[in-house]
Amino acid sequence: MAAPAEQDLCLKCEQLLQPYLDRDLTEEEMVEAERHLDECGYCRKRYRFEEHLRRYVREVVEEKMDPALKVRLAALRTPLV
Ligand SMILES: [Zn+2]
Repeated sequence: MAAPAEQDLCLKCEQLLQPYLDRDLTEEEMVEAERHLDECGYCRKRYRFEEHLRRYVREVVEEKMDPALKVRLAALRTPLV
């Protein structure tokens, strides 16, 4: 019989996963999410998949980006002296 507590945790993890990927959590919530990912194979797999997906999307977007625009974006990141 499946433990209902574990399912509740995964629902919680579901809510934590997206902000966790966005690094949009408090330190406490990050620790909580990391601890859960350590314990829960299901969520760990989902997290790895999502992270991989995001990295892939980022690479594709950057590759397609106009080089001149990339330079302008890089200039924006560098503080003006
Ligand atoms: Zn979980």
